[in-house]
Amino acid sequence: MKKRIALLGATGSIGKSTLDVIRRGKDDFEVVLLSSHTGAAALRELGKEFPGARLALSGGAAAEGVSFPGPGGLLRAIAETGADITVNGVSGAAGLLPSLAAIDAGSDLALANKETIVMAGPLVFDRAREKKVKILPVDSEHSAIFHLVEAHGAEGVEEILLTASGGPFRKLSREQMAAVSAKDALAHPTWNMGPKITVDSASLANKGLEVIEAVRLFGMAPEKISVLIHPQSVVHSMVRMKDGAVYAQLSRPDMRLPIHEALYWPETRPSPFGKLDFRGLSLDFEAPDTERFPMLGLAYMAIRRGGVYPCVYNAANEEAAAAFLEGRAGFLDIPRIVEYVLTRDFMPPGFGSSEPDILKEKPGDLANILAADGEARKLAGEFILELFRNFSF
Ligand code: NDP
Ligand code: MG
Repeated sequence: MKKRIALLGATGSIGKSTLDVIRRGKDDFEVVLLSSHTGAAALRELGKEFPGARLALSGGAAAEGVSFPGPGGLLRAIAETGADITVNGVSGAAGLLPSLAAIDAGSDLALANKETIVMAGPLVFDRAREKKVKILPVDSEHSAIFHLVEAHGAEGVEEILLTASGGPFRKLSREQMAAVSAKDALAHPTWNMGPKITVDSASLANKGLEVIEAVRLFGMAPEKISVLIHPQSVVHSMVRMKDGAVYAQLSRPDMRLPIHEALYWPETRPSPFGKLDFRGLSLDFEAPDTERFPMLGLAYMAIRRGGVYPCVYNAANEEAAAAFLEGRAGFLDIPRIVEYVLTRDFMPPGFGSSEPDILKEKPGDLANILAADGEARKLAGEFILELFRNFSF
């Protein structure tokens, strides 16, 4: 029987890679839902290619062929479609509610949208357990760790080694980083991705989000997760076992491989993606420079504080990255904005403690999370306006 697939964010970078995997697996998959935020024309084109799919346009009005307009329309489409597996390739915090809707509809979740875990991991896992649905990480590092942990057993893992390309500014001084433009940040050396995650890769905010994602997905304490700069992006992550052995996952940097693995899980099927040629290949590793890339340390601060702080980190960074992309803030302002917001007091009454047990903590209910997200964006917006007025960049 074909797996019925809902693809959220079908017009984006993850969406396009997913469609490529699906096109090569026509006998295995049936597309039942496709979504875009604003790309009505591109969505209608996809609708012609996959006539069995419902079309949702979360940021637009009803149009020919689009039966689910607006953000509520997307959630309704997810609930009514009841797919076997939902690929969430929506960018940013907007991916959280669609993830929850998919779980509530009893669909497994192939999760590229890391914000779902960063903002509300414990809540999402509780619901997934309740509904007996599986969450399969698509983020390449977490997909690698997921398969390594499956193969070697979670009990034996001592440490997770999360690799990072280091982005386009790996070798720049702080003075040089102060002058970079959005165009410079969008030229990623190894991965071809959407604009927001590409800026996050340049600031290492993406790796910060991934540290939080790993803490929550694999139930590891933050001090058991180390980041290693690995410019070739061939080793997608590693686990160090208690006996000292290290296991790694290697493949060409191509998101279609982790997507293929998630869609076929638990089977291993042949794929044309990711195959490495080792001849002439060299692999380098170095420690990240946390002074030049403060977004990494700020992510550890956020996850150690626990509760809604990872959500606050994400929201402040989304506002800061958007301001940088629009020329309202400089590159070095990104960590300044996030640090300013993250060091405010966000704990809702009766929630959390000064020393939360990170592995057991609950980030409150959905209302608390969304309130913290909104408050963090407001504070970030005020700070960005202040920076802009003072022409600090
Ligand atoms: P893109 O910007 O390329 O695509 C985003 C998709 O989401 C588009 O289809 C867009 O629609 C849709 N979208 C945008 N805003 C909203 C909204 N408010 N509500 C609903 N849908 C929306 O992003 P990426 O594909 O690069 O990234 C998607 C997610 O996957 C992110 O969470 C990212 O961190 C994660 N990820 C991405 C990787 C990559 O290689 N790209 C690797 C690992 C993780 P439209 O443009 O049609 O308006
Ligand atoms: Mg990643």
